[in-house]
Amino acid sequence: MSERASTKGRDDELASASIRPELIERVESGEGADKDLHRVVLEAFGVCAHRRTHKEECDNDGYDLVCSDCGSSDLWLGMNPTGSLDAVVSLIERKLPEANCHGYDLMPKEVVGYVSRNCIPAGERAWMHEGYAKTPARALLAACLRALQTKLKEHADANSKNPLSEGRERS
Ligand SMILES: [Zn+2]
Repeated sequence: MSERASTKGRDDELASASIRPELIERVESGEGADKDLHRVVLEAFGVCAHRRTHKEECDNDGYDLVCSDCGSSDLWLGMNPTGSLDAVVSLIERKLPEANCHGYDLMPKEVVGYVSRNCIPAGERAWMHEGYAKTPARALLAACLRALQTKLKEHADANSKNPLSEGRERS
């Protein structure tokens, strides 16, 4: 039981995220930054995508900007993952920390984004996902959404095999 308790926070965080195939399609087929899509993407990654914020007093004589809807101080709404590679990289660092390689290739007709985990000593690749779009940010974002989709599926499969997790699926 103690092992489960220690991983609970992570379980909940993963459980709050889900990736629909239509979302990946929307990211890959569009162009440039898209504010509506941007919000859906943040929700899919399970990070705060709310708009309303307020200031809250914090310990070191200042104020923190906090989300008025979920209380998170980890605000992502200013991030623009459909138009900014920096924003996509922040999402990788946050949600796919096991990835140790990411980038994009400019091909004649499209951009191919990729995110992978390479096992350096073994000279092998543990996994890799690709995305295809007109811009680097969208191509890399699509690759990340596929990686996260697989991660969530593996997580759900592992949970369903675990007898301790019986009952979780009903919720
Ligand atoms: Zn929020």
